[in-house]
Amino acid sequence: MTQQPRYRRVVLKASGEALMGQQGFGIDVNVVDQIARDIASVRELGVEVGVVIGGGNIFRGVAVASKGGDRVTGDHMGMLATVINSLALRTSLHKLGVDAVVLSAIAMPELCESFSQRQATAYMNAGKVVIFAGGTGNPFFTTDSAAALRAAEIGADALFKGTQVDGIYSADPRKDPNAVRYERLTHEQVMRENLQIMDAAAIALARENNIPIIVFSIHEEGGFKDILLGAGRCTIVEN
Ligand code: UDP
Repeated sequence: MTQQPRYRRVVLKASGEALMGQQGFGIDVNVVDQIARDIASVRELGVEVGVVIGGGNIFRGVAVASKGGDRVTGDHMGMLATVINSLALRTSLHKLGVDAVVLSAIAMPELCESFSQRQATAYMNAGKVVIFAGGTGNPFFTTDSAAALRAAEIGADALFKGTQVDGIYSADPRKDPNAVRYERLTHEQVMRENLQIMDAAAIALARENNIPIIVFSIHEEGGFKDILLGAGRCTIVEN
């Protein structure tokens, strides 16, 4: 294992569901603390880290739309959920002494700063962990797309997608014992074979901007750092 990290600046995307742990809803602080420890250990390598957290553990816009409600309002509620999660992660990072800031795509100055590409880049250059809250700020998008967008905006070298399993498999490894994990795929293959790892808009944006996507298990403590050091289990998606 080399001690030189593979990438200098990365964006980590964690789904809201990952924060639930074994619960059916909301935030398990132990899980958030673990993700914060993983981020802290990556920061210690000198890697600059931006983070996008989903909101699915609290609210998804489609839940309103599927019950005949207004999708746009539902998506606003979903984006607010990502702010709640982002504040939880900032708290866990601060507990570890990691300098972290939340930048929201939707202005809420009493709670956190608003996102701008300039401010985000300045904070990252200064070594702060930047948590991008509020998704893209627009309805009909997802936090996967927000992660790809922010990665492109801040010039990230890679997008780390933390999931429930340690990579992209030929079938669901929790259901099919013969499922095999891919070591490497192209963005094109992921799109063509419709591998459900991120939504199509996110993959397309990453492909256009030549940003590798590294799919790994968010629950494997130390995995984020190991992969940056050239070890660990993951699937790498790159052009
Ligand atoms: N959302 C949105 N625009 C965005 C990002 C998110 O409207 O740019 C809303 C949408 O309703 C979504 C919810 O926020 O369902 C939570 O985000 P997401 O589903 O991506 O969270 P995850 O699945 O990663 O937990």
